[in-house]
Amino acid sequence: MVETVDILIESGSLLTMDGERRILTDGAIAIRADRIVAVGKTKDIRAEYRGRKTIDASSRLVMPGLVNGHAHLIEIARGLIPDNVHTSDWLKYWCYPYLAVTTEEEEYWYSKCIMAEMIRSGTTCFVEPGCKFLPSTLKSIEETGMRATTGSWVWDQGGPDGQKCPDNFLKMNLEECLEKTEHNIKTYNGAADGRVKVFATIEGVGTCSDDLMLGAKELADKHGTFTLMHKASSREEVAREIQVTGHRPVEHMYEIGALGPNVYLNHMTAVELDEVDMLAETDTKVCENPPAALKLAKGTTRTGKFLEMMAKNVTVALGCDGVNSADHKDMFRSMFLAATLPKDANFDPQAITAETVIEMATLNGYRAIGWDRELGTLEAGKKADLILIDIDRPEWVPSYNLVYSLVYSASGDSVDTVIVEGQILMEGRELKTIDLDEVFAHCRELAPKLAERANVKPESRWPVV
Ligand SMILES: [Zn+2]
Repeated sequence: MVETVDILIESGSLLTMDGERRILTDGAIAIRADRIVAVGKTKDIRAEYRGRKTIDASSRLVMPGLVNGHAHLIEIARGLIPDNVHTSDWLKYWCYPYLAVTTEEEEYWYSKCIMAEMIRSGTTCFVEPGCKFLPSTLKSIEETGMRATTGSWVWDQGGPDGQKCPDNFLKMNLEECLEKTEHNIKTYNGAADGRVKVFATIEGVGTCSDDLMLGAKELADKHGTFTLMHKASSREEVAREIQVTGHRPVEHMYEIGALGPNVYLNHMTAVELDEVDMLAETDTKVCENPPAALKLAKGTTRTGKFLEMMAKNVTVALGCDGVNSADHKDMFRSMFLAATLPKDANFDPQAITAETVIEMATLNGYRAIGWDRELGTLEAGKKADLILIDIDRPEWVPSYNLVYSLVYSASGDSVDTVIVEGQILMEGRELKTIDLDEVFAHCRELAPKLAERANVKPESRWPVV
């Protein structure tokens, strides 16, 4: 008997990411409600299932949705920050002052704009490292249909370097930080029908006391979630940490017992080999963000140890970062960089493979946030979070190797259709849950006001006449 399902995707090339990493030609996927119920050859799946909706994937590569491991929604000053400042000054003089004057209305509309950019480039799940107005961010995530982790950004010390931030911006005392964090986890973890996880999101780079790092981890342990922060992201941070604690950033976390399997560290471009061992021993999760690392000159190819981490089975996810630093949310561009930088840095084309990078952007991403049992592969029983990539485009012809084309040739523009929990968020590049005209209208109206409030004029090295 033929069973009716909600969506039947047929005749596609399937990058299953299953245990054998099979690439299925002429493959089909049956989706019922939020889950994949069957994957196989089109003729076999057709014999068993009929779709209320059928998607012809004959010129599509179908794969699990990408995870952007570091995707701020509240960095909205894209282009207002000069492209020639180091991490430390970037935070102190630019990033935080903008965040300090950002309003709830701005956070809501820009979040939608940033999520539209992510959906259009194949990201289905993102790790938001801490926002300012959690309820409105949750509302925007709920409305767009994406999957995410988020939380409220908190810290209990003056900014990185001691006095970085505008007066009192997000700074609370230890008790307030922990109270707010626990309230968020209790109230919102599992929001949007389970598509949102709330993490203990602390800032991390010199702004958080040992007690806050440990307290956040304790809350994460207690409530079965994660603690997330930025760490080891610049030489300046390492120097300051050594000055204050006598140890390097990761080393210090290890010493005080703040590492662990539910601890997620962003950037990590300035680490030593003994710190890699500490990460491996504690099963701490790491996210590499090549676009931000390169633009802010973090020295990722000099002092980064991502290959060494992966060689020791540390889970390394892949991300972009906020649009104030990475300037884009296209994971295809991040995959290209993650696949090519280590080759060049080591004078070794064998340093990393395209396959490894795809694993970073899918399997590792989900593992790093504790979602790998339900997501990351095209297999029966998994959540139906997947993307269809149009391979009927010049950059995909010919494609003797779909994996190579995906990592080295394509951009996020190739993504045609995006599905999260069985809901179609984009089809034929048309967004289904976001009204882009409305989002653009709001963002364009709000943009000059932000610059005005922050008292900064957009700069141009060339005359704008
Ligand atoms: Zn960040």
